[in-house]
Amino acid sequence: MHDLSVFPATYAEARARFIDACGRRGGRVHSLAQRGESGPSGEPLFLDVGVFGNPKAPKVLVVGSGTHGVEGYAGSAAQVGWILRGGPEALPADVAVVFTHAHNPWGFAHGWRENEENVDLNRNFVPHDAGHPANPGYARLHPQITPDEWNEAGVTRVFDALEAFREQHGEQAFSDAYNGGQYSHADGIFFGGQREQWSHAALREAIGTHVGHARMAAMIDLHTGIGPALDHIFLGFHSPGSAAHERARAWWGDRAVNRAGVTHKAVAHYKGLLVDAFCDWLPGVETTATVVEFGTLPRPAMQRAVLSGRWLRFRGDAHPEQARTIKGEYIDAFYPAAREWRLAASEQSKDIIDRAVSGLARG
Ligand SMILES: [Zn+2]
Repeated sequence: MHDLSVFPATYAEARARFIDACGRRGGRVHSLAQRGESGPSGEPLFLDVGVFGNPKAPKVLVVGSGTHGVEGYAGSAAQVGWILRGGPEALPADVAVVFTHAHNPWGFAHGWRENEENVDLNRNFVPHDAGHPANPGYARLHPQITPDEWNEAGVTRVFDALEAFREQHGEQAFSDAYNGGQYSHADGIFFGGQREQWSHAALREAIGTHVGHARMAAMIDLHTGIGPALDHIFLGFHSPGSAAHERARAWWGDRAVNRAGVTHKAVAHYKGLLVDAFCDWLPGVETTATVVEFGTLPRPAMQRAVLSGRWLRFRGDAHPEQARTIKGEYIDAFYPAAREWRLAASEQSKDIIDRAVSGLARG
């Protein structure tokens, strides 16, 4: 039975449903408040942590949502769906599941991929006290992809610039420059920030508290927007041949390690990813971590959504009518309303989480 009411319309609704589901199915909730920021109706913001099973279990699965805020609507539904569809009742005694809900609550609440400082949280997990990685390719692209006006002629010029960079430097250099992460342009895209963000510290604390004791731990960081529609892809970053790489393959199949369905022609050498930080925070623990993406629109449409969102945040105030239209398209790109999309995400996410629980139980 699919209950699509788990797909929320607002952050406040998502949070209320998550806390209610935890309460009804024996989960304990710990909330970390993000003071000084609020949602669009003034609502308070939190990273909420829901713990199922024995909190001292030697094996812990973390399932996270909303690293990219607006992608948290689908991620929250996946979390609540698993809770309400028998997940907790089927947990083996030595496995706990920890849901981290709304990693980037400001972006979730306001419907943006980035956070309150325009930081892409999933590029922020780098050391911030020793200088940041340079990205000269992004610096070259930035003025060409951040127009003052958003119209079809301007969008064509933006995409021409991306294509020219790609032709000149190749797919890998393009991906690294465009979406690998940059630390120099605070009004740009895929900006990793110049300081540790609140969410970064809150997640480190939550993982330390709820996972630090474990012998084995895994993380599934739920995202949307890469890969084919109505399907999902895995973006794992364990080295081929490593034990973690083989665990991912054993749990989820070859698709977990062979980049099947990834619509990027070359996957960037990403900097500052949460799944990498998760493993770094747990040095004595046998860790397995992956990003799971539920595909929405084709790659050029997603690039357009990200770039239009950036324009909206920095230039949109002067164009309120156009801004409303673009914001609607932007939200739909990351959180499709179509029933069949939501059914697919609901069904597939349950299976992905169940497979990780079974894998941990065997390990
Ligand atoms: Zn994402």
